[in-house]
Amino acid sequence: MTECYADPGEPEAAPAPPLTQDGPRAACVLCGKPTEYPASLPGLTMCPVCEWQEAQRTACSG
Ligand SMILES: [Zn+2]
Repeated sequence: MTECYADPGEPEAAPAPPLTQDGPRAACVLCGKPTEYPASLPGLTMCPVCEWQEAQRTACSG
């Protein structure tokens, strides 16, 4: 007897960077809105909306 634990649930979300309680927030590199990420976070920061759109574009590229 075998049991399958394949879960047709939502795709696993990427681990989120630590969120700031206060302090300056990094601006979204695409739309300029403040993100949930601290301004000290290295690299490009995007708001949830732009992150999602970028993910869609990347997934559909080609
Ligand atoms: Zn944005």
